Amino acid sequence: MKHNYHSHTVRCGHAVGTEREYIETGIKNGLITIGFSDHSPFLFWKERDGGMKIDREKAADYFKTLGELRQEYRITHPEIYIPVGFEFEYFPGAFDSYIEEADSCAAVLPDGERVGIEYLILGQHFTGFGSENGGYSGMPGDSEKRLASYVEAVIAGMETGKFTYLAHPDLINFTGSVQVYEKHMREIPIAAKKLGIPLEINLLGLHEHRNYPNDLFWHMVSETGNLVVMGCDAHAPERVGNPELISEGEAFAKRFGLQVLDELTLRNPLA
Ligand SMILES: [Zn+2]
Ligand SMILES: [Zn+2]
Repeated sequence: MKHNYHSHTVRCGHAVGTEREYIETGIKNGLITIGFSDHSPFLFWKERDGGMKIDREKAADYFKTLGELRQEYRITHPEIYIPVGFEFEYFPGAFDSYIEEADSCAAVLPDGERVGIEYLILGQHFTGFGSENGGYSGMPGDSEKRLASYVEAVIAGMETGKFTYLAHPDLINFTGSVQVYEKHMREIPIAAKKLGIPLEINLLGLHEHRNYPNDLFWHMVSETGNLVVMGCDAHAPERVGNPELISEGEAFAKRFGLQVLDELTLRNPLA
């Protein structure tokens, strides 16, 4: 693995370290692409309903900090590519305008280079919106309605064409029957294949033995024959291109007979 598109920064409130430490660790671990895809500033919004405001200050600082660092590394390490994006929720409704609003926090550096959203990965951390608040997707629950609502949001998100890949596609923590899980979740690999969107083996979830990656899901991915990527989902510098985590991901992919893509072509969500 030489290309990682999934790293966070302190701005999301649950990551540690400086951007420079993430980049330095990535370089030390032999990465060529060190992509940043922090949670979009309004992911952990204060008032989920109605008050989904972008914290413009944080977003502006994110673009400026990474833009300046990238200019510096272009001189000292011209072989390293540092794309800047977000891990974004899909929201029904005025979705395009959310992207545009987040991008309007772009930084313009002294030499005129504009640093805004260069790619998005889809991470559906919440199910249901408005009155149908289904809460955090990783929270255990046996509601089929909640499962269906997760699948629906993920597919609608992929269908926007804005996302380079789907992060932790199996984040939803469904504790009901295997049959119900498979009936709904199978729709994700089917849609992703049709749309040509890679599915991420999330190295954070794998390493920490979270509810994802879920074997049942990846059996279906294997059967469907999807494009697959690995994502560090780094919330700490030492997780960027960490060889131990990568070998865990490789062993996982091998177990399911998955072909893992490494370098991706980024989809421009503003095109
Ligand atoms: Zn995530
Ligand atoms: Zn993430």
